[in-house]
Parts: sequence; structure tokens; C-alpha cells
Amino acid sequence: MNILVVNAGSSSLKYQVINIETEECLISGGVDCIGLAESKISHSVIKTNVEYSEKFKFNNHTEALKIVFDLLVDAKYGVFKSISEIDAVGHRVLHTGEDFTGSVVINAETLAIMEKNIPLGPLHMPANLDSVKSCASLLPGVPMVAVFDTAFHMTMPKHAYMYAIPYEDYKQYKVRRYGFHGTSHKYVTGVACELMGTKNCKIINCHLGNGSSISAVADGKCQDTSMGLTPLEGLVMGTRSGDIDPACLEVLMDKKGMNIHEMLDYLNKKSGFLGISGVSSDARSVQQAAEAGNERAELVLAMAAYRVKKYIGSYTAALGGVDCIVFTGGIGENSADTRERILKDLTYLGIDMDWDLNEKCPRKQNVELTKPNSKVKVFVIPTNEELVIARETRDLI
Ligand code: ADP
Repeated sequence: MNILVVNAGSSSLKYQVINIETEECLISGGVDCIGLAESKISHSVIKTNVEYSEKFKFNNHTEALKIVFDLLVDAKYGVFKSISEIDAVGHRVLHTGEDFTGSVVINAETLAIMEKNIPLGPLHMPANLDSVKSCASLLPGVPMVAVFDTAFHMTMPKHAYMYAIPYEDYKQYKVRRYGFHGTSHKYVTGVACELMGTKNCKIINCHLGNGSSISAVADGKCQDTSMGLTPLEGLVMGTRSGDIDPACLEVLMDKKGMNIHEMLDYLNKKSGFLGISGVSSDARSVQQAAEAGNERAELVLAMAAYRVKKYIGSYTAALGGVDCIVFTGGIGENSADTRERILKDLTYLGIDMDWDLNEKCPRKQNVELTKPNSKVKVFVIPTNEELVIARETRDLI
């Protein structure tokens, strides 16, 4: 069975074709800058290493998907003779609201509920649902499944997801913690349970990438997570501030003459690694600047690691202990320096690190970074969100 996985952002589209029997990725690609003057498509056939890259002007996701479908049946760049060889489509959709606790088959009824939840994700949800509709018209009759970014976190207890605002506003407007990166947290939780040899364990997952979030998991179920109503809350990220006293907003809006939309743009797009370092939102560039002596680059690396460390401490308390800590995402998987900054003072938790292995950690594989007798284990687990989407799609159809 071949499953097309579609991950549509506000101006981007990522896709993979996965053979779900072998869990092999056949095709992987992406389109950037949809709706802008020049869009770019990059497409790879995994087995043959054949790559295709071209500039177009795509006004919307439907136009981009039409080209993707042409490529899938192309003699050189495709893997299918006919588009009918796609058996199902799995769509990444941002928000469940409080309506779904897991993935759902897309039909008129579930689509209407997703449309009702657009206000919870005004940037992403319209693009997600446009892609759903485009695929429905381009692939009539092919079953489709929505896999939600928030769903893994729906097991959080109420005392963890509530904000301490007047209760009636939670009831009426559904303002609460939801959490994001759910497919990644779900994937690494599954692998961590396999590596631990049991589901019955306490896990803290650190997904550190451009966007970063951390989750506390017990018995395979999410108990708490750092992102909130939106992905702005929690850790220090590429361009997002993470946690901040809301009273700062009043001071900054007043002094800089910003309205609330400009203020949120500032916190979402101009803060974090970029805002503090003044160098870049990209962790590698910030790291290089810090190594070259840039103090603000060094400062934001220290701030980001300190924030993760604080969350590990609070989630250890929340879970009543911890059995393993997982690092994933572009930074979590690849930056030995970040892992060292976070873990070096955590020996009191019972972590006995193999620092040499941390430094030489092989890429793209699951690695245990702690010594065999370490009470708490530390793993690097490369995430695979597309595979989670493909598996959920198979399970539901
Ligand atoms: P996204 O949230 O967009 O999926 P990724 O998980 O791909 O992001 O992570 C991107 C981040 O990972 C970037 O900040 C990048 O600099 C960082 N990164 C990738 N490789 C390394 C590395 N070797 N060392 C440090 N940071 C890295």
C-alpha cells in the first residue's frame, strides 16, 4: 500500500510517498514560497538518488500539488505508472481543538469540524484544509486521513492543560494548552519505549529544532508539554521567545507603538535565537558565531539550554521521576554542544553520560548516550513525523 503524506504550511508543502508494508520512503519533496513571485520545488527519488529541482509560480497549493502528481508518474522522476497507485493520503493538520483525541478519516462531517477550528490555527489550518480539498479533487475516491499535531497531547490531565484564567473563558473560547509537534513526540516515545523494553516508563522528550518543544510522558501517554494554545510558549526557539511575562507586552507595545498583531509577530518571528544573537535564527550559524567570540550568540545558546534544563527539572517533578531523556529534531539530533550544555549539571538526576559518544554521536540512528549502568538513560532518536502520519493513515483505512 502506497501512502502519500502531505504536510502543508502557510506557504510551503512537503510530501513523501511511503510504502507502508516496508515503511520505506520512495519519494520525498517540498515546495517553498507558494503564493509568492517565485516558488521552488525540490523532489527526490530515494532509491535511485535522482533529484529534480525547478522554479515555478504557484498561486496556491492546488497548483503545486498538480505538478507533484505529474512528477509522481513521470518516467524519470516518478515511481508510479498511474496516479491510481496512491492508495491513501495522510494529511498533517495542525489543530484538533477539543474535538478529536486522535487521527480521523476525512469526510464531510470531520472536515466541517476542522473548518470550525480554523481560528485556533489561523496561519496553518487554512493551508492544511486547502490541501485536503485539492487532493480530494485531484484524487477522487482515494481515502484520506487527518493526523493532528496536537493529538498526542490530548491525554494531558486538566490541571496540566488549563491556564489560570477565568474558567468561563476556557469553556467558551477553548483557551488552554494544546501542545504541538505531536507526531514527533509520538514517534520518539514509541522508539524510546522499545529501547527501554517497556511502555511502563517515564520519558522526557526534547524536540529541539527551529521550533522546539518538550513533553513529559508516562506509560506512553503525554502528561504535559511546553507549547500552549499556540507554538509560541515554552522553549527559546529560532525566532520565537518562548515563555515570557505577558506584562512585557504592555511595556513593549507602549514604548514601540506596536499593536497586538505586530507584538505577536515580534515574539514569533523576531525573537529567540535571532533576536538575542542578532546573527541568525539558525542554530548552526549562532553556534559558529559563539565559537568566534560573539557574546550575544553565546548568551542565547546559554539561555536556550538553561530553559530546557528548567523544563527537565519541572517535568521530572511532575512525573515523579524520570527513566529516560530523549533528544530529537535538527538541534537535538545534531548538536553535541547543546546536549552537553543541557545535561552537564544533571548528574544529580542519575545521568551518567558517555561524553565521548555524545561528541561523536553517529547521525541518523538511535543512540544511547549514557553508560550502561546509568540510572536515567539519554537517547538520541531521529524523528520521523511522516512515518507516524503514514502509519496512522494505514491504521484508520
Ligand atoms: P524544523 O523545526 O524546521 O523542522 P529542524 O528540526 O530541521 O527544524 O531543525 C533545524 C535546526 O537544526 C536549525 O537551527 C539548524 O541549524 C539546526 N541544526 C542542524 N544540524 C545542526 C548541527 N550539526 N549543529 C547544530 N545545529 C544544527
